[in-house]
Amino acid sequence: MNVDVMTRPAVLILLGPPGAGKGTQARMLQEKFGLVQLSTGDLLRAAVAAGTPAGKQAKAVMDAGGLVSDEIVIAILNDRIAAEDCRNGVILDGFPRTTVQAQALDDLLSSTGQKINAAISLEVDDSAMVERISGRSTCAGCGEGYHDTFKPPHNGACVKCGSTELTRRADDRAETVASRLEAYHAQTAPLIAYYKAAGVLKSVDAMAEIDKVAGDMASVVRSVIG
Ligand code: ADP
Ligand code: ADP
Ligand code: ZN
Repeated sequence: MNVDVMTRPAVLILLGPPGAGKGTQARMLQEKFGLVQLSTGDLLRAAVAAGTPAGKQAKAVMDAGGLVSDEIVIAILNDRIAAEDCRNGVILDGFPRTTVQAQALDDLLSSTGQKINAAISLEVDDSAMVERISGRSTCAGCGEGYHDTFKPPHNGACVKCGSTELTRRADDRAETVASRLEAYHAQTAPLIAYYKAAGVLKSVDAMAEIDKVAGDMASVVRSVIG
């Protein structure tokens, strides 16, 4: 029996443009499979809110819809992934977003003897992303994601924790969507070929309803984790 393989924690990557549903699906997979969602967007927003030096540098770039420097993002990710709660496996939501980040992740995983189980590409049409992003809100109590039309809170309250405080992200404005999609196509989309070449690419139709996408994601995950 190969103990090494059995104890190796799962590493899943979610790839997709802003608004594709990465955060929504990562939270559902986290519950279903006991993995930990690592969102570099959430980590960066926390750094901005805390006013750390990295957060101060990241803020303007995030507001403009660009990508934060690889150096900052890799440092934040390396720090978080080393935490105890990540030992059963992680779902990377929004990382890597550049080839440099993908290579840094490969180096990190090879140093710990881990492997990527799958990079799951959420396939969507750019034209639907403005509506998804401009209708997005997040529960301030527990972080659950909502959408004005596609996943409204129940009578104005979060179905998970009951909070009525729903926040909108500073960068979720129609004006920044174009630059964020541009950054995605120029810098992140090449990772689809990168992970295809590595033999770990999977794709799901993320234009379908949330629960249908979740079912397809779960099938993929079951097929790649032991
Ligand atoms: P979305 O959910 O719209 O895809 P995220 O919450 O993942 O957005 O990220 C918000 C912003 O944080 C991005 O527009 C970018 O400025 C920054 N960011 C998040 N992850 C990364 C990353 N891996 N590399 C560079 N910038 C990042
Ligand atoms: P990402 O993390 O990729 O930026 P989110 O998971 O935050 O995307 O989803 C963006 C918005 O679209 C949220 O308001 C979410 O509720 C909604 N959403 C997510 N998946 C779907 C879907 N399959 N159909 C319709 N709306 C969706
Ligand atoms: Zn909540």
